[in-house]
Amino acid sequence: MIRACSVFGLILSLILAAPAQESFDVIIRGGKVIDGSGNPWFRADVGVRGDRVARIGDLSNSSAARVIEARNYAVAPGFIDPHTHALSGIFDVPTADNALLQGVTTLTEGNDGSSPFPIRANLEKIASTRISANWALYVGQGTLRREAVGLSNRAATPEEIAKMKTMVAQAMEEGAFGLSTGLFYIPGNFTKTEEVIELAKVAARYHGIYISHMRNEADGLLDSVRETIRIGEEAGLPVQMTHHKVIGSKMWGKSADSLRFVDEARARGIDITMDQYPYTASQTSLTALLPQSYQEGGQQEIVKRLRDPATRAKIKQGIVANILYDRGGGDAKNVYIGVCSWDRSFEGKNLAEIARQRALPPTPENAAEVAMDIIEKGGARAIYHAMSEADVERIMRHPMTAVGSDGGISILGQGVPHPREYGTFARVLGRYVREKKTIPLEEAVRKMSNATAQRLGIADRGLLRAGFFADIAVFDPERVTDNATFEKPHQYATGVDYVLVNGEIVVERGKHTGARPGRVLYGPGYQKRSQ
Ligand SMILES: [Zn+2]
Repeated sequence: MIRACSVFGLILSLILAAPAQESFDVIIRGGKVIDGSGNPWFRADVGVRGDRVARIGDLSNSSAARVIEARNYAVAPGFIDPHTHALSGIFDVPTADNALLQGVTTLTEGNDGSSPFPIRANLEKIASTRISANWALYVGQGTLRREAVGLSNRAATPEEIAKMKTMVAQAMEEGAFGLSTGLFYIPGNFTKTEEVIELAKVAARYHGIYISHMRNEADGLLDSVRETIRIGEEAGLPVQMTHHKVIGSKMWGKSADSLRFVDEARARGIDITMDQYPYTASQTSLTALLPQSYQEGGQQEIVKRLRDPATRAKIKQGIVANILYDRGGGDAKNVYIGVCSWDRSFEGKNLAEIARQRALPPTPENAAEVAMDIIEKGGARAIYHAMSEADVERIMRHPMTAVGSDGGISILGQGVPHPREYGTFARVLGRYVREKKTIPLEEAVRKMSNATAQRLGIADRGLLRAGFFADIAVFDPERVTDNATFEKPHQYATGVDYVLVNGEIVVERGKHTGARPGRVLYGPGYQKRSQ
């Protein structure tokens, strides 16, 4: 009897004491909470228990195994990157340092029409590798077409379309978040709009999205925006223009039109959005300088064409035109070799410099010769300086624009990658929020977190809310800086001093802890197999 009483008393005292002595695994104390909704910051403590945010408010009477003093920090949801090429590097660097040190806690792969397929094998490999960030996939239309049709420039037959539709359905059931295209790249560029719509309808059935590197981001930009809107309208699903940009000085200023198209489409009920990286230079293959009609069949076929003198002359003309009016930005010095695995001495040099090294004047014609020579010998990745700052800022200000890096996972010191891999999110917070005041801080955080969570249908991440997964970025708005430049890209961002992924501390005092708590995320059509 006495014993029962004391147990009762103990329980009673625990219940009475509970609000005062609640305990957490981690408390982030006293920071400016920016919850990812776009609402203004407020000062509060954030209590994490297990893999979730347990409570936000005044936790001054509570205890925790770990307390992070965040008085001088913004406390935000971990950033979700809707466009990465993280397969490039993730198995070499599963800690994904370049992403985590910017506050990125979820990586999305399978962009530009290129993805693993079947996606299940990749998701299983990621899960068994254990990485530091969460992982999500789109299924790539180019990958499916390559398998069903090959690399030839023709319409797919009804049988081939049926096969690709089955593949989209399979990927959606395996957990893809939608269908991606790279209509600028082979074999996406051989695909008629109607064929894309057929596949997008399948993604729509599973509540996936359509995300596209559009057919043309230079002089054909506005037609490409119209095409994307049409796909959204006829396939009946949300569409996203990924890394929205305006290439070539002739086109500068046209983002005013592309954004007007977006507003008009939304007014008609078509759910179209964008993402963007905050740089005035793009990066893709050097082969992108070739006219598309000469890219059919891939590298081997291109090399064959370059060895035929008559065809070579036509290709050269096309490259010269691209240097002058398209992604060359008017001058060979705007085209830099980024990564060239077979001759590292080219890395970081532009086509004008390489021409001069060969005792050739740096004309577009000589630059075209240099480019063809490099492509023949194995190709390279290139960086193209051909966008205007005014377009970058106009696109950033638009409420439908999210932030996405288009970057891979960097191997420190290897190659000359685009600085966006190391700097995208920190650059928006530093250069565009703090210095240029292009957008408010809360809006930037929304573009980095909830905007993409909502887009992908991730219901339990992307906001700082009790019950949500504890993906958290703690950064100093006064210090956060992208340090990577085009000349010296291998520099981590600074100022994001604490990052939690699924409740575990992955970045502490600005250093990666080595923790790898990332999880595979499954899209809205995922059907768990019972086996
Ligand atoms: Zn792309």
